[in-house]
Amino acid sequence: MNVTTIGIIGGGQLGRMLAMAAARLNVRTIILEPQSDCPAAQLASEQIVAQYDDPSALEALSRACDVVTYEFENVPVSAAEHLQATVPVYPPPKALEVAQDRLTEKRFLNDCGIATADFRAVDSQQDLDLALADFGGRGVLKTGRFGYDGKGQRVFRSSADMPTGVFHAMGGVPLILESLVPFEREISIIAARARDGTVLAYDPAENVHRNGILHTSVVPATVSESTAAAAQDAAKRLLDALGYVGVIGIEFFVMADGGLIANEIAPRVHNTGHWTEAACVVSQFEQHIRAVTGLPLGDPCRHSDCRMTNLIGDEIEDVASWLQRPDVLVHLYGKAEARPGRKMGHVTELTGPKTPSNG
Ligand code: AMP
Repeated sequence: MNVTTIGIIGGGQLGRMLAMAAARLNVRTIILEPQSDCPAAQLASEQIVAQYDDPSALEALSRACDVVTYEFENVPVSAAEHLQATVPVYPPPKALEVAQDRLTEKRFLNDCGIATADFRAVDSQQDLDLALADFGGRGVLKTGRFGYDGKGQRVFRSSADMPTGVFHAMGGVPLILESLVPFEREISIIAARARDGTVLAYDPAENVHRNGILHTSVVPATVSESTAAAAQDAAKRLLDALGYVGVIGIEFFVMADGGLIANEIAPRVHNTGHWTEAACVVSQFEQHIRAVTGLPLGDPCRHSDCRMTNLIGDEIEDVASWLQRPDVLVHLYGKAEARPGRKMGHVTELTGPKTPSNG
């Protein structure tokens, strides 16, 4: 095996789970993260404590690693491009560029033939008034960049809601207004593309959010075989168009007729794929390590039905009771302080042997 050391930009729980999967394959990991003793560094071989775009840290990372990847999508594109001059960076920086800006993301998805909510760029209050009038007073206003877990969003449900001063209240930054999608449920697909172009996808998960944060992911999702196949097909088109290597997460709204509307993409391992750790032989984390190191992809089939629940904030106090239950995998992230809204861990309950998708 040629590759022995992977650099991971970002030190959160996703980096931690990547480091664990890498270790089982004799792959060393070096984490670049400004916060020392971060969740990923607790399990990695080494940490470089520096900002993500620190030139000397990037230089040290590229010298020490055979390939560099990342665990969150707000890595500066310039840092990823700079690294790429000396070391392979997977997924490609282009994927970061597309995922970091909701307008670019929607246009790219549409160019791949993947439907999204109708949208308008909003760069002033006047733009917002016009766009809302276009959408009958209903829509979801989001910051164009750096939004996550429902942060930087505002929902308008009727024309009685017509806002004044909202553009400035949201920071005067570029925004996007999306039409309000009357979806029936939310699903996501976790797929991987290998260096040789092979694409494999896990079964879609059905996701429930609370206060904009993922609460549960359940597999199988309540969707028909054809909706599941359409999600996998969309993932393949997107991955091929990006010349992608690694794991991606794509979130979709499912409409009453089974049609899919893509909401957003995450060019990394994804919270809605944590269930793969308990219900598949090869998890999304190992799949990502395999893809970026040029190893063959693993079988994404699951052996069980399951439900993954995030432990958020003081839900971490329920761990003792989760540990009493059979068929539950508990995964904790090594975070000292349980602040509200902070993801502290997750649990995956195996709910029975695999049943087909149940739409
Ligand atoms: P996001 O940050 O884009 O993932 O949005 C967070 C959550 O807000 C989604 O999971 C949906 O539940 C809801 N949401 C986002 N965009 C829309 C939309 N255009 N129409 C309806 N609901 C939305």
